[in-house]
Amino acid sequence: MGFLESIKSVFSTESAPEGHWVYVRCKRCGEVIKTRIDLQNSLSSTDSGDYVARKTLVGNQLCFERVEVTLHFNRNRQLVDQEIFNGEFISAEEFEAATG
Ligand SMILES: [Zn+2]
Repeated sequence: MGFLESIKSVFSTESAPEGHWVYVRCKRCGEVIKTRIDLQNSLSSTDSGDYVARKTLVGNQLCFERVEVTLHFNRNRQLVDQEIFNGEFISAEEFEAATG
């Protein structure tokens, strides 16, 4: 009848990583900020065949510090290195704890 097949197609999901979430804490005011790196459109390829993504994060509070994030990905778009200025990387759990 094709009924079970149609249910399966509804619940099938894409397995390829499309986004990478970054959680940071502003060094100046302590505000936590999160952003999503679009792995399909936001990466720049380098001479060595790897990828790099740069983001500047500014919080919503009255602090004008710009948190500069640079992420390095290998050719499989997996994170291999990350750098940050004016802030620190935190985990998703720390972000949730800070935002309640
Ligand atoms: Zn700040």
